[in-house]
Amino acid sequence: MENKKSVVSSFDVDHITLGEGLYLRSVYTINDELAVHSWDMRFRAPMAHSPLGSGEVHTIEHLMAYHLRLDPVIGSSIVSFCPMGCKTGFYLSTMNNVKAEDIRAALATVYKNVFPLKSKDDIVGLNEVQCGNPGLYAIDATNDAMAQYMRCLYTRDEAEAAGIGSIYNPAW
Ligand SMILES: [Zn+2]
Repeated sequence: MENKKSVVSSFDVDHITLGEGLYLRSVYTINDELAVHSWDMRFRAPMAHSPLGSGEVHTIEHLMAYHLRLDPVIGSSIVSFCPMGCKTGFYLSTMNNVKAEDIRAALATVYKNVFPLKSKDDIVGLNEVQCGNPGLYAIDATNDAMAQYMRCLYTRDEAEAAGIGSIYNPAW
């Protein structure tokens, strides 16, 4: 019998060995021409780390959905940014012209411009008109989660060169 692949490609990944990182997960072709890339921004190793809290997930969703779209290289190629229901990371969907290195650089720019968060005023769109649950956010835990994720994408030297050396010396 023919092996059936899961409809949801994420289920084909071995989550026992999956580490934190940035992965190209799926390529979707639409009308045989348009390719959308789905990136796995995995903040926590599924079995080794505890998942993100709901406040961190919601805060990062707001910040990235907004600020990544301002990036001069990848901003106009972003289709969507969504949290994973398992709370170990996020899906970033882009057009097929975006490379992993572009995303990594865009994340560093957002980090440099936005982090560390000082108060809820730093979280864009967190109000009753634009959001379904504006009371759900986290400041310190999001700062920690974001610095931890950036440390898995940037070595200490690379972080210094990119102007985000503070990910290795959190001061909050
Ligand atoms: Zn919201």
